[in-house]
Amino acid sequence: MEGGCTCRHVRYRLNGRPMIVHACHCTWCQRETGTVHALNAMYEAERVEHLAAEPEIIVTPSASGKGQRIARCPICKVAVWSNYPGSGPAVRFVRVGTMDDPSQCPPDVHIFTSTKQPWVTLPRAHARSPSSTTSTRSGRKRPRNAGG
Ligand SMILES: [Zn+2]
Ligand SMILES: [Zn+2]
Repeated sequence: MEGGCTCRHVRYRLNGRPMIVHACHCTWCQRETGTVHALNAMYEAERVEHLAAEPEIIVTPSASGKGQRIARCPICKVAVWSNYPGSGPAVRFVRVGTMDDPSQCPPDVHIFTSTKQPWVTLPRAHARSPSSTTSTRSGRKRPRNAGG
């Protein structure tokens, strides 16, 4: 699947399916997207291929204090993906809205739902998602046979 910025100076190709798709309802994502949540598809960096210009990397403050690196078109400044310090440069959080067909990447998990806007209603399947932590899949394994 391909995608890119609004002026089409930056174009990318995504190889394969994302590891996971996060809808992040944290207040930082609300501010940075100007809307109620970010929608990020996680890809290993080598599976995100730039087809035209390279994006410029803008270091942006983040909730952790370590900053996130946002890849933006050097002309129209639309953000196409970002790196977070937790996962480093190896993982790119591709902004689903920049894909040519965003319907291919519905969210697998909703995170930071404790700060979601009250009028946003989530599908029932996501009800067990963590309320204020990061991912369910990329984090620690759930303990098995706990107490046994
Ligand atoms: Zn552009
Ligand atoms: Zn967020």
